[in-house]
Amino acid sequence: MVESDPRRSIPRTDHLLALPEVIAAGEHLNQETIKAIISEVQTAARTGQIPVAEVAPTIISKLSSRLASSLTPVLNATGILVHTNLGRAPLSPAATQAITEAAGYVDVEMDLGSGIRSKRGTGAKAALLQACPAAEDALVVNNGAAALLLAVTALRGRGAHVGSGRAASANIDSVRKPAPPAAEPGEIIISRGELIEIGAGFRLTDLMTTTGARLREVGTTNRTHLADYADAITDDTSCLLKVHTSNFRVEGFTSSVEVAELRTLADEHDVPLIVDLGSGLFTPDPALPDEPDIDSALRAGADLVIVSGDKLLGGPQAGLILGRSEAVQTVAKHPLARALRTDKLTLAALEATITHTANPIHDALHIDKDRLRERTETLAEAIGATVVEHDGRVGGGGAPGVPLPGWAVELPEHCAEPLRTGDPAIVARVHQGRCLIDLRCVPESEDQRVAAAIGTVLTSNLVDDD
Ligand SMILES: *Cc1c(COP(=O)(O)O)cnc(C)c1O
Repeated sequence: MVESDPRRSIPRTDHLLALPEVIAAGEHLNQETIKAIISEVQTAARTGQIPVAEVAPTIISKLSSRLASSLTPVLNATGILVHTNLGRAPLSPAATQAITEAAGYVDVEMDLGSGIRSKRGTGAKAALLQACPAAEDALVVNNGAAALLLAVTALRGRGAHVGSGRAASANIDSVRKPAPPAAEPGEIIISRGELIEIGAGFRLTDLMTTTGARLREVGTTNRTHLADYADAITDDTSCLLKVHTSNFRVEGFTSSVEVAELRTLADEHDVPLIVDLGSGLFTPDPALPDEPDIDSALRAGADLVIVSGDKLLGGPQAGLILGRSEAVQTVAKHPLARALRTDKLTLAALEATITHTANPIHDALHIDKDRLRERTETLAEAIGATVVEHDGRVGGGGAPGVPLPGWAVELPEHCAEPLRTGDPAIVARVHQGRCLIDLRCVPESEDQRVAAAIGTVLTSNLVDDD
């Protein structure tokens, strides 16, 4: 560095720490966090990203606008309802309130009447069973992957699913044989068309084989028949598993085996039937006619159905296991269940999501199209841009390939980056050289902030162009 380089005069840390605003920030932020912010801004000045004169003001502004965590709230203008990179389902007001209420000490495992220990998560479970009468019992774990892991680990082998109401006699215990010991986890029978990777290289198949189980793939990518399953069943069969292909669709010459048919086969051979639906519709939704739902899968005879809490259900991250009492109890009693259990905040938010009507995912799915169009036109007018037709999507959570017709405001592609890094942070869809603003998943109350933010970006673009 040359002698006159202004970067040499970057204010020193002790000087910055002594600024009154920085001292005031110390009332709520710890010193490590404050020093990290100081160091980050000093580095920005050293590398020429900001002028030296801006160091102190930048630190003060960063400290005063620092949120409780480093997670930045985002307005999702992609039109994708369940966007895994954006935290999947936004919580409803009731769920948000439930989290705040449960944040302190709560009776998550205590009966306040008697003062003795009670079962955990009874409220969430009761809500699940009310929402889904076909389920005899339910268990909530950390996420869908955990639910699948637990189900295939705990529920294996002949007789593991007794209590199905069909084969079960009055004397259930005499029918039940113990599950095979952990050293012999057996084979999970699954269709080749359902061996899915759900994102970021995460394969459900890899997850299942960590249990020591072997996968017995049957059928082909496009077609699997009941006979394929039947031929694969041996004494070593651990379970039949049906997985919803939640993020892709095979079209053309295809066939797969329905849950009801698999039930018959499972009964003949006395093996459990697990159905992983991914998304979490309790009952069929007319907006997504091909999306499977929990109620139908249970009525068709699944011993256990697995769904995520934060996909179409619109709740917090969770894995829900619903099904026949005996099967759910077997899963709940497995030692792994303790390692995969959910915290009180999730239980509170899940219960609130299920028992209250407002639900942002549901609202975005069933948005009033005329209103969406009006909002989009108002935005376009305010910023001087055009409206184009644009399909929203459910996203990784389900209904692959199903368009949700609507509109977007079209902007130049280079607007996407400043919108993402602005305040509010707006994530648009970048597609075919355009930046598209789809208001489907944006709360209507935010429309004006969106317009203002885009206005600022467009104006500074004009200035830059000069
Ligand atoms: C999303 C998904 C999972 C994993 O659920 P997480 O809640 O993300 O752990 C498992 N199976 C299917 C079919 C899915 O769609």
